[in-house]
Formats: sequence, C-alpha cells, structure tokens
Amino acid sequence: MSASPTAPVAPAQLPDAAGQFGQYGGVYVPETLMTALAELTAGYELARSDPGFQRELRHHLKEFAGRPTELYFAERLTRHCGGAKIYFKREDLLHTGAHKINNALGQALLARRLGKKRIIAETGAGQHGVATAAVCAKFGLECAVYMGAVDMERQALNVFRMRLMGAKVVAVEAGQKTLKDAVNEAMRDWVANVRHTHYILGSALGAHPYPMMVRDFHRVIGQELREQILAREGRLPDEIIACVGGGSNAIGCFYEFLGDQTVKLAGVEAGGRGIRRGEHAARFEGGRLGVLQGSKTYILQNPDGQIELTHSVSAGLDYAAIGPEHAYYRDTGRIEYTYATDDEVMETFQLCSRHEGIIPALESTHAIVHGLKRAKALASDKIVVINLSGRGDKDVQTVQRLLEQKA
Ligand SMILES: *Cc1c(COP(=O)(O)O)cnc(C)c1O
Repeated sequence: MSASPTAPVAPAQLPDAAGQFGQYGGVYVPETLMTALAELTAGYELARSDPGFQRELRHHLKEFAGRPTELYFAERLTRHCGGAKIYFKREDLLHTGAHKINNALGQALLARRLGKKRIIAETGAGQHGVATAAVCAKFGLECAVYMGAVDMERQALNVFRMRLMGAKVVAVEAGQKTLKDAVNEAMRDWVANVRHTHYILGSALGAHPYPMMVRDFHRVIGQELREQILAREGRLPDEIIACVGGGSNAIGCFYEFLGDQTVKLAGVEAGGRGIRRGEHAARFEGGRLGVLQGSKTYILQNPDGQIELTHSVSAGLDYAAIGPEHAYYRDTGRIEYTYATDDEVMETFQLCSRHEGIIPALESTHAIVHGLKRAKALASDKIVVINLSGRGDKDVQTVQRLLEQKA
C-alpha cells in the first residue's frame, strides 16, 4: 500500500492491480465475497475489451436510454450571471430521469454475459432502484431491490414504479433503515446467492472492481461532452462542474478531461444546513480516512469510527462515504471540491426552472449553484459546463413542502 498518493499517475493506470487509487479504494470485504469480486473483475475485464459487448452497450444506450444527450446553452442564466457562457450536459433527458441508467444498463448486460439470471441492487432515494428495475424488465431478469424502510416511506412513488416494472422491493428494517443499511442487506444477499445473482451497485463506491466499472460505464458522458463542445465552440471548456454523492456522474463527466490541464474540474458536495456534525454530507469537510462497505476513502464518522448521521435536502447526495477515486484526485489537486447548502440549492432550483424551463434534480442543483458563482466570476469569453445529472420531477413535492414551511 502506497503512503504517498500524490505522485502523478496517468489516469489510464488507475486503479492499480489491487484496485487502489493511491492509498484509496481496494477490497475490504469478508472472505466470502472475495471469490465473487474476483470473478466479476475477470468477467468485466473480458467484456470491456470485447468489441461485441461495447457495440451491444452502445446500441441499448441509444435506443433504450436515449443517448447521446444534448449539450445545451443556458442562454438566460448566462445573461443573468453576466460572465462566462454556461452550458448544461443534459443527463436529465435520459430514460428514468438521470445518469444512473448508463451504469444499470452496462452492468445488466455484463450480468447476462456472466450467466446470472437474478439481479439485486440497493437504493436510497429510489433512482438507482428504478433504473435497475427498468433494465431488468427490459432483459427479462429477476430483480430484487433493497431499500431502507424509512426511505420507502419517503419515496413511495419510486417504490411503486419499481413494482410496476416487476421488481421486488425488500424493506430493510435494520439500523437507521436508510441507504447504508440497504447496502449491507444487498451484500448479505449476494454472499448467499452469488452463483446465479449479480449485484448492481449504484455509484462509484464499494470494493474493487465497482468504482472502476461504474466510472467506465459513465465515461460516455465526458466522451460526448468533449465532441460536442469542440463542435460547438471549437475548444475545450474552462471549467466543468458536477455534484458528488458517491461520485459516479462526476467522475464519468470528468474522466476524459483529466489530462487537459487547462480544464478546471470541480465536484460539489452537499453542505446541508451547514458544516456542523450531522447537518451535512460533505465528506471532504470534516470527514476522515476510514473503511466503509468495501472501500478505503473519506468518511463522515465520529472519533470512535461510528458513521455519522448525514443530512441533505437531496437524498442522492446523502451518504457518509465518497468514491475512492475522488479522494485520490483531491489529494493530487487535479479536481477541486466545494459544497452547496440546502438554502442555496432551494433558491437556484427555482432560478433555473424560471430562467431555462428546466427543472433540475436537487442533486444536480448543487452543481448549478457553484456553476453560477463561477460564471459570475469569469469573463464573457470563458466557458463553464455543468453536468445536469438528473431531472427534478421527483423533487417537486419536497420543494413545494419546504417552500410552504417557509411562507
Ligand atoms: C443518484 C444521483 C446523484 C448522486 O450520485 P453520484 O454517484 O454521485 O452521481 C446525483 N444526481 C442525481 C440526479 C442522482 O439521481
């Protein structure tokens, strides 16, 4: 294990053979899962280099998910800010409403190739569960989604969507009955049923090969963006900004630009009600190194190593650990990290809806908050791209309730 993670390594070489990004990542799981992860790693390596697999994936990304997604010039927000040109990468236009379908499709195809007929997944807000249920229905795979009982109550509509598409939604009554507990249950199921079951993990988190594999399935975001901005502006953008929950939409969007030193990359975490214990989910503000659910990374934990309660207005960013690759690039300085608070997000959610006719997901709105600040600070010949990871239809009731409370 390397103790000096700051030595520059070409992105193509990461993670290393042990699944590590410098000192982060790795495989911290019980013995019983090692075989399953090794088999998955081997299967994925073969699929990744198989043109037939890549062709099939591209076909379904286009026909089922709706790729490529547009690069959209946010003209009125640009004028409102009076600085840099603002573009949105429109992942919100994808089937099931967010970037998550890129990964769900990729992993479902991989499962089919590995001969697994049953899929399990965890979900917090339900977005990853809905994407997984959709691809399972499409490919005729059996599907079980683990979801905390508290989350099931908060996200009843997504529970119904999953069931409509034939998924079994399993209520998790352990612990705080939220996402972390759902991941534990999914891992337990996987250990018991690994012969015929594949676990579709929903973000760039967990034990190797998940952070790498999930990143790879989302790299299409940055690949398209690169072509689109070159066609549109004849050059690369000055800054690219994305929100960071586990970190999958951000790393997928950033990856193709890691080698372009002129392109600034910024990840935005959930600042919640402010950076005080239990009030936020910004792992780089007050988190420290630890191991959670298979991976070594930055985690919000108390001095005894107990996982802290987290809070964000957006369920998709409300998780105590950040993807290990982000911890690595934060150390090297290649990606900068900041946060947006619930209040900023509420204001910008309305501003974006009013100025552009686009209702963004609360998660994505964190990136817009920072993007607008940067656009204001930059000259009009600069270009800022914001990754719009999802649409806000799922959030309108939450926002309505919060606005009524304030009034
Ligand atoms: C799940 C979700 C996120 C957070 O997940 P990442 O893995 O960090 O991308 C962000 N935006 C939307 C719309 C989501 O559904």
